[in-house]
Amino acid sequence: MIFTTSWDDGYALDLQVARILEQYGATGTFYVCPHKQHDRRMVTTKEIRELGMRHEIGAHTMSHPHLTQVSPEKARREIAESKQWVEDSTGNPCTMFCYPYGDTDDKVAGYVKEAGFAGARTVEQFAFSGTQAFALPTSLHIYPYPFRPVANRRVLSPLLHARPHLKRLKIPAYRCGSWSQLAKQVFAYAHGTNQPWFHLWGHSPELEKYILWNELESFLGYVATYEDVVHAPNSALLSS
Ligand SMILES: [Zn+2]
Repeated sequence: MIFTTSWDDGYALDLQVARILEQYGATGTFYVCPHKQHDRRMVTTKEIRELGMRHEIGAHTMSHPHLTQVSPEKARREIAESKQWVEDSTGNPCTMFCYPYGDTDDKVAGYVKEAGFAGARTVEQFAFSGTQAFALPTSLHIYPYPFRPVANRRVLSPLLHARPHLKRLKIPAYRCGSWSQLAKQVFAYAHGTNQPWFHLWGHSPELEKYILWNELESFLGYVATYEDVVHAPNSALLSS
């Protein structure tokens, strides 16, 4: 089974994610975008070049728009320019794209294909295979689980979203008391049922905001105990 990870937006904190992945023999596809978000420092072109020597770099538009809500001209330009920008930054061909907010439709997917990309990732979760190159789903998002703390409240939307999927995969929800426990259960399901791949994705500032670094390490350490797992970038999913 292939194990792949992807990280969105190109925050400077992605460099820390990259170091952790390397520590556990894993690899990532970093979907970078020059647009500054959440008042965070973004990776510089020099950092993208260095990151690109060890991991895959994908495109994620130039200004992070909702691609189905802008004009076709603007959407095409955002997609094509981001490919060029990544290629100029890394000096290598950029074959993978990721839709901001997962916002896409047949038209937008067509523009991505037209721009010369080989595939594109969505934000769909609990999938372990995919036949459409321009609508590649993921297996799990790294995010607070089972609830998200907001001020002094607990928002249960992560559990509510996962519940029907866990039911379908026959994973008892009581075994998933934290994100890393959920991730290990979902990974064990995928491995035990001989799925083609497991795709973890996330945003590095959320690892910091929700204190998920140890959860990530705990999960990567668990994945590393499976000797038959092949670590590969997102583009490897296209031929799996
Ligand atoms: Zn994004």
